[in-house]
Amino acid sequence: MAFESLTDRLQGAMSKLRRKGKVSEADVKEMMREIRLALLEADVNFKVVKDFTKRVSDRAVGVEVLESLSPAQQIVKIVDEELTATLGTETVPLNKSPKIPTIIMMSGLQGAGKTTIVGKLAKHLMKTENARPLLIAGDVYRPAAIEQLKVLGQQIDAPVFDMGTDVSPVEIVRQGLAQAAENKNDYVFIDTAGRLHIDEALMDELKQIKELANPDETLLVVDGMTGQDAVTVAESFNEQLDISGVIVTKLDGDTRGGAALSIRAVTGKPIKFVGTGEKLTDLEVFHPDRMSSRILGMGDMLTLIEKAEAEFDEKKATELATKMKENTFDFNDFIEQLDQVMGMGPIEDLLKMIPGMSNMPGLDQIKVDPKDVARKKAIVFSMTPEERENPGLLNPSRRRRIAAGSGNQVVEVNRMIKQFNESRKMMQQMSNGKMPAGMDQMFG
Ligand code: GDP
Repeated sequence: MAFESLTDRLQGAMSKLRRKGKVSEADVKEMMREIRLALLEADVNFKVVKDFTKRVSDRAVGVEVLESLSPAQQIVKIVDEELTATLGTETVPLNKSPKIPTIIMMSGLQGAGKTTIVGKLAKHLMKTENARPLLIAGDVYRPAAIEQLKVLGQQIDAPVFDMGTDVSPVEIVRQGLAQAAENKNDYVFIDTAGRLHIDEALMDELKQIKELANPDETLLVVDGMTGQDAVTVAESFNEQLDISGVIVTKLDGDTRGGAALSIRAVTGKPIKFVGTGEKLTDLEVFHPDRMSSRILGMGDMLTLIEKAEAEFDEKKATELATKMKENTFDFNDFIEQLDQVMGMGPIEDLLKMIPGMSNMPGLDQIKVDPKDVARKKAIVFSMTPEERENPGLLNPSRRRRIAAGSGNQVVEVNRMIKQFNESRKMMQQMSNGKMPAGMDQMFG
């Protein structure tokens, strides 16, 4: 997950104040020095850092002692508010045209993630608004780009308009828009060519497409891993193309996050979405307040809940709740659950969205080992359909057969069945409103 070391450093800087009843000007200065270094190290633009630290310092020096909050808590609150402001304060939704179609034009350098974002955004709109998008393949310089868009279109079941590589992009867009009008598509995505560097020919082509299509959104896609470069790219695209919003991709892995933190302040244009992985569901709406909270290690429950909602199907969830209550949760449900949870991304990233969890010692050790998941699945797949539905049937001889069939030791099969039975019992207790044994003490 991006921002990891930034979060550590910021928490370190602020935690020193926590032990103090009173915060002096010297304490604030010391903290601000550490925050400044942390931000610069995360590759945040130096002007943005300067401006941010000044705003925080001005407010932090004069904090009054309030009854409800300690001085340290008030300063964390100020840092959070100013970070949210730097990130743009408001969540800015996609512009929408009053009449169909809403036209969304993509721009950005090669490899930034434009084509992937077209797939992700179209899928997102199909799911949240029942959208019927048309994807226009306007990158004629890379035949592979057209192929890539067609594959994405097939995956999400959306039509792709292409005319190969021998027609000019402007002509392709013109004919694509005509087709969208004929088919009454409500969204049109225009995928465009990128270059390795900004050059005049690229900008001219984009300007021509923009003039012809008159898009409701001109989105710039930047690669979050490129740090300061992403900010420079955003500045020039904005100057030449007057973009309406930004998408920062690759905010997964160990991106330091500086680009995401600087772009709004440098260009004045809102970040609307962020890409967090290669899968089509790895897209998040950008909420400045939630992002700030996550960067400061204060968790982001709302995004966690939304991620869960996006992965879980409501009908299935209701069926599951009934099964838990009636204790009929079986091995087929178990596999389905396992796949859904794995689909939400690395467990340790999800846990960090829970307030207070990001600085839990040992969190980095919590990793779901894909081999372990594969082993559990192999065990279940070696069961007969009756056994999967009736775990009670699993006597020792059946367990021996399953062990042999799945290439495991019997102890491993036994351990997995024991875990399954225990979680089943716990789920039943919880769904009947009781805290499972032991858990009441954890929260009491
Ligand atoms: P384009 O040239 O701008 O159209 O870029 P592509 O959409 O082809 O993406 C370039 C590469 O980046 C591909 O390998 C994508 O799978 C990858 N990519 C795109 N978005 C993300 C992201 O959010 N996270 C990660 N890790 N990879 C991404």
